[in-house]
Amino acid sequence: MGKPTGFLEFDRALPQKEKADARVQNYQEFVKEYSAEQLHDQSARCMNCGIPFCHSGCPLGNVIPEFNDAVYDGKWEEAYQILISTNNFPEFTGRICPAPCEAACVLGINKSPVAIEEIEKHIIEIAFRNEYVKASSTYLKTGKKVAVVGSGPAGLAAAAQLNKAGHDVVVYERDDKVGGLLRYGIPDFKLEKTVIDRRVDVMKASGIEFRTNAEVGKNVPAAELKDFDAIVLAGGSTIPRDLPIKGRELKGVHYAMEFLKQQNKRVGLSTFEEQDILATGKNVLVIGGGDTGSDCVGTSNRHGAKSVTQFELMPQPPQKRTDGMPWPTYPMLLKTTTSHEEGCQRHWSISTKEFLGDDEGNLRAALIVDLEWETDHLGRPTKFKEVEGSLREIPCELVTLAMGFLHPQQQGLLEQLGVEFDVRGNVLATEGDYQTSVNKVFAAGDMRRGQSLVVWAISEGRECARKVDEFLMGFSELESKDKAV
Ligand code: FAD
Repeated sequence: MGKPTGFLEFDRALPQKEKADARVQNYQEFVKEYSAEQLHDQSARCMNCGIPFCHSGCPLGNVIPEFNDAVYDGKWEEAYQILISTNNFPEFTGRICPAPCEAACVLGINKSPVAIEEIEKHIIEIAFRNEYVKASSTYLKTGKKVAVVGSGPAGLAAAAQLNKAGHDVVVYERDDKVGGLLRYGIPDFKLEKTVIDRRVDVMKASGIEFRTNAEVGKNVPAAELKDFDAIVLAGGSTIPRDLPIKGRELKGVHYAMEFLKQQNKRVGLSTFEEQDILATGKNVLVIGGGDTGSDCVGTSNRHGAKSVTQFELMPQPPQKRTDGMPWPTYPMLLKTTTSHEEGCQRHWSISTKEFLGDDEGNLRAALIVDLEWETDHLGRPTKFKEVEGSLREIPCELVTLAMGFLHPQQQGLLEQLGVEFDVRGNVLATEGDYQTSVNKVFAAGDMRRGQSLVVWAISEGRECARKVDEFLMGFSELESKDKAV
């Protein structure tokens, strides 16, 4: 253990951020780095618990006390090796994970949890700087070919693991660039795209082939995949939830992803054919209180919106846990993001009843009403009713609908392959098995589990790759989260 008294001596500290009014002037990341001393002190806060709950809190099973120890001792290559034994892409999770490991940190019962996510980010950035991150060469090739459809974190993790096992891997991506939602959903101010490019370069140098502008089931016939020994479907959950109320067709009402994807393309100097959707000088209403909604808030502020308001149908989350657990709610339940710090009026328990337009069909306002929620004995919201007399108009010229995603696109590839769907419309394949109803076809990530998190997508990609390897070879030596170092 690094420093047995560290958790008594040092408080949790996060790296400084650029001030909100400065950072909204551009789309760059704005979280600064720890000094060497801060990083040393923060790693010293890890208590090296007898039962480290952070392991199981992390969907990847990251072995956190061990890498904290190595950081404390300044053993960077060792810290890096421990980290990548369970996580292919710490540079993604170290930036944008909601860090369920920190919510599980035992120190969090009495004090603030260890800053695990930031420590993770520093390990991988130091590893890139010191050139520990290298293309891997697999000397023993199996002669098997695997197609991965989709290049989000699930597809990338599956590809990296399958390549490591010696299979020839081709990744198909319908967009012009690799990365899935990392590239065209999550804004640059949370994850600069050079971070993805840097990783994809390593993967290419390791022998993985990427085919972009290749939509399997459309411009690439699904039949082409028959030549492969196995297929991994990692196409994400892409059908957004709509709000089919009166006025939905007005000019100015858009799905969040239409808005965010355009902006990410602008920053990445990619072209798009659709008309520009800009928040500049407008009153913006973001409907939906999750990550997608908060990315719309941050993007609208960078566009120079006149005002930004965010509505959530559900009530404000409780300040304390209501289920009797001693662990803190931070950071999973009280989700306030850096985008909210940049300026946003946030309201809970609001239902949007209608969008109102002018004579030319342009959005001019939304008609909204307050909701009163009933809760169960644990404080969980169950039923709502509208608050009498609260119906009112709020002016807005741009609405982004950020209310989640229903399921993957079923037309095209999935229908052509004939895979079955679960009750929610996702590709049917059990967790831990990842095999779909069609022989040699596997599924991972949001396409299988429904909309989720980057850390889960990486975890599923890794675990699925192991199952594919077992299917192809009869056994697998790939790591599994149950067998972490
Ligand atoms: P995706 O990332 O969706 O990638 C799927 C890829 O498959 C896409 O590139 C798609 O073009 C491609 N594809 C689909 N069909 C085909 C086909 N037929 N042929 C070829 N290619 C195809 N999670 C976090 O943990 N932290 C966050 O801060 C966070 N922010 C988010 C912000 C937004 C705006 C959104 C929408 C999501 C966010 N998430 C966040 C969730 C996270 O991004 C997803 O859970 C994760 O990216 C899912 O990974 P995936 O690989 O399963 O799918």
